[in-house]
Amino acid sequence: MRLFMEQLINITFPDGVVRQYKKGSSALDIAKSISEGLAKKIIAAEVGGQIWDVTRSIDENIDLKLLTWDDAGGKNTFWHSSAHLMAEAIENMFPGVKFWVGPPVDNGFYYDVDLGDHTIAEDDLRKLEAKMAELARQNNPYIRKPISKTEAVNYFEAKGDEYKLDILQSLSDGEITIYTQGNFTDLCRGPHIPHTGFIKAIKLTNIAGAYWKGDEKNKQLTRIYGISFPSQKQLDEYLQMLEEAKKRDHRKLGKELGIFTMDDDVGPGLPLWMPNGTIIIEELEKLAKETETDGGYKRVVTPHIAKENLYLTSGHLPYYQDSMYPPMELEGVKYYLKAMNCPHHHKIFAAEQRSYKDLPLRLAEYGTCYRYEQSGELFGLMRVRCLHMNDAHIYCTREQFAAEFRAVNEMYIKYFKIFGIDKYVMRLSLHDPAKLGQKYVDEPQLWLETEAMVRKVMTEANIPFVEVPDEGAFYGPKIDVQIWSTIGREFTLATNQVDFAQGRSFKLEYINQNNDAETPLIIHRAPLGTHERFIGFLLEHYAGKFPAWLAPLQVKILPISDKFIDYAKTVLEKLKKADIRAGIDERNEKIGKKIRDTELMRVPYMLVIGEKEVNENKIAVRRQGKGDEGVKDVDEFVAELRAEIMERR
Ligand SMILES: [Zn+2]
Ligand SMILES: [Zn+2]
Repeated sequence: MRLFMEQLINITFPDGVVRQYKKGSSALDIAKSISEGLAKKIIAAEVGGQIWDVTRSIDENIDLKLLTWDDAGGKNTFWHSSAHLMAEAIENMFPGVKFWVGPPVDNGFYYDVDLGDHTIAEDDLRKLEAKMAELARQNNPYIRKPISKTEAVNYFEAKGDEYKLDILQSLSDGEITIYTQGNFTDLCRGPHIPHTGFIKAIKLTNIAGAYWKGDEKNKQLTRIYGISFPSQKQLDEYLQMLEEAKKRDHRKLGKELGIFTMDDDVGPGLPLWMPNGTIIIEELEKLAKETETDGGYKRVVTPHIAKENLYLTSGHLPYYQDSMYPPMELEGVKYYLKAMNCPHHHKIFAAEQRSYKDLPLRLAEYGTCYRYEQSGELFGLMRVRCLHMNDAHIYCTREQFAAEFRAVNEMYIKYFKIFGIDKYVMRLSLHDPAKLGQKYVDEPQLWLETEAMVRKVMTEANIPFVEVPDEGAFYGPKIDVQIWSTIGREFTLATNQVDFAQGRSFKLEYINQNNDAETPLIIHRAPLGTHERFIGFLLEHYAGKFPAWLAPLQVKILPISDKFIDYAKTVLEKLKKADIRAGIDERNEKIGKKIRDTELMRVPYMLVIGEKEVNENKIAVRRQGKGDEGVKDVDEFVAELRAEIMERR
C-alpha cells in the first residue's frame, strides 16, 4: 500500500500554459525541466506576482514567470545582489563599517554606509571593484534564511550595527529573513540571484553624501553607487553611452544654446526659460493644443494655489505633504502651491450639472505645479521644483473607458513618431492586494476590474507592455511610459492613470440614462510629461540639433561681406513673412567663421550670400551638419522649409 502520495501543483506560465510539478519544486527546477540553456539564464522568478529567489520551493498552485537579465525584475534582483557583493567588499576593506540600505536603482545600485573614522576616495573604488570581481568569481550562493526577531536582534547587536537594529524595530516575527553570501550577512527581504558568479562586470561610479533616512538633521552617511552587468561587453557599451551622454548633457547644451538658466536668487530647482527655450515651449504647446483639439479636449486655466481643504479631499495631504511646499497662511486659512492639477480640474467638472450626454469630458491644461524635491535630488531640468505639465483629465463612463484609454495611448504613439522615439516600453503598474487600505484605496473589486480593463485595451491595441506588481497609483492602475533617447539612455516620460477613487472623494457625479447619479471614472494623462523633463530629454535626444519646427532660430543668413547686407535684408523679409524664424549675421567676420559659429548654435539652415547670389537673385543653401545643398531661388527655399515645418519633419 502507498502510504505517501506525491503531491503535485499546477504552475501557470505567462502564455497561459499550465503544467504540473512536484510540490516543493523551485523555479530553477522548473526552468531545468524546460531546458538547461534557460536554467543558466534565470536569475529570479515572479511567483504569484512577487519576485522570488529561483531556489525557493513553491508549494501551491501559482502563476510563474521566469526572469532573466532582460526583465526589469531580473535586473533589479541582479543589482540588489551586486549591492550585497559591494557591501562584502567594503566590509573586507574597512572592517567595522555599518550598513544602512542598499537598493537597486534605475541604473545600478547603491549602498549607504557609515564608514566610521575611515574615508573613501576615487582610488578606493577601483580597489573595491577588484575585490568585488574576486569575490564574484567564487560563485558564492546567496543563501536565504528566515530568522526570528530575537535572533536577528542578537546578531546585529553583536555586530554593533545600530542601523540594521533600527530597521528591525519595525519588523515582526515571521517576516524577517537574512541573506548570506561568502562572508557577508545582511538583513534583507531579498530576492537575490542564485550566486555571485553571474556578476561578470562591475563599475563603481560615484561617492556621495546621504543623510540617514534622508533627514538633514541626521548623520551623513556615505553613498556608494555602482552598476554591474552579466558581461564585460554590456558594461563597455554602457560606458560608451555615458561618454556620449556627457557630450549631450542637457545642462551644458541648455546653457550653450540659451535654452534655460538657474539663478541662486530665484532658488534651486526653479529654471528660468530664456527666449530660445521659450520658443521650444511654445512649439510644444502648439503641438499639444492641435492634437488635443483634434481629440475633443477642452482647455482650462487654473490658479497656482488652493486652500488646504482641497488637498485634504484629494488625499495629497497628508500622504503627499513631504513633496509639497509648506503652506502660506492668509486670514487664518492655509494655502498650498499646487503639486498637481487634478483637484482643480475636478472642481471644474463639479461646477456644472453633468449628464451622460456631456461625457466624456476632457479637460486639458499646460498646468504649472510646484513640488518640493530635496536639494540633493535636484538635477538640471530633470528634477525641478517648478514644472509645466502637459496635463488633462478625462471624465467618462465605464462603457466609454476603453475607447478613451485607447485614444490616449494612440496619442502617445503619435508623439513618439514625431520625435523619432523608436524605443519605448509601457509598464502596467498594478496594486498589491496585501497593501489595500494602506498604499492603495481599499476597493479590491474595482482594482481587479480596472486592471482587467487596461490590460484588455493594451492587448487589443497590440501595444507591447509589461506588468509590474505593487507600483500602481494610490487611486488606480497606471501605465508608466519609458522612452529611450537616440543614444540608448532611458527616461521615464509620463504616466497614463486610471482613477476610480478621486471621483468619489470629490463627490463628482453625472446623471445617467436612468436618471440616477453616478461617479465618473477619471483618466489622468500627460503624454509630453513636463516641459522641463521633456525638453531635457529632447536636448540629449537631438544633441541640441532640433528639427526645423522646434529650432529657436530656423535660418541664419550669412552675407560674405557688408556689400551684400541689403540683399540679405530682402531675403530676411521674405522669410519673416512666411513665419520663419531667421536672422542675419552682420558681423565683419570671414564666411568660414560665420558658418562655424552658426553650426555651433545648431541652426538648421544657413543661407550664404555673395556676388553670384545677388546677381542671380538666389541664395546658397547649407544644411546644418550636412553642408552645401546648392543654389536656390528664395521662394523655392521658403516653400520647401514651410512644408518641412508644417509637417514637423
Ligand atoms: Zn538586501
Ligand atoms: Zn491628475
